Amino acid sequence: MEEKTGFKIGDRVDQMCITCNEERGHIVVSVSKTGRITRVGCPMCASHVNYRAGTTRRASTKLGAPYDRARTYRKGQTLIHPTFGEGEVTAIIEPQKMDVLFADRIRRLIHAHS
Ligand SMILES: [Zn+2]
Repeated sequence: MEEKTGFKIGDRVDQMCITCNEERGHIVVSVSKTGRITRVGCPMCASHVNYRAGTTRRASTKLGAPYDRARTYRKGQTLIHPTFGEGEVTAIIEPQKMDVLFADRIRRLIHAHS
């Protein structure tokens, strides 16, 4: 029953991860009846995105949104801090504290703060 040309759930494909802002191997999480990939998941940040072969280039991705302390961040998300520049969430320390890696070093920021 297996189709050699079709993709299966669990296969790996290279895809630009918008959340990580990096191209890396993604895991196929959903395929169509004809064996075409419809959705893939990033193993680093666990985000699921629609698969768009050939259109997932760096130029088409946007950078992280400006840092907003009221927002709830997840590991792997990127943000733009007004002082420190672009950063990536490396760890959630507490419900309202996270470590963010900036160009020079990791800084602890608050988030999910109302
Ligand atoms: Zn990712």
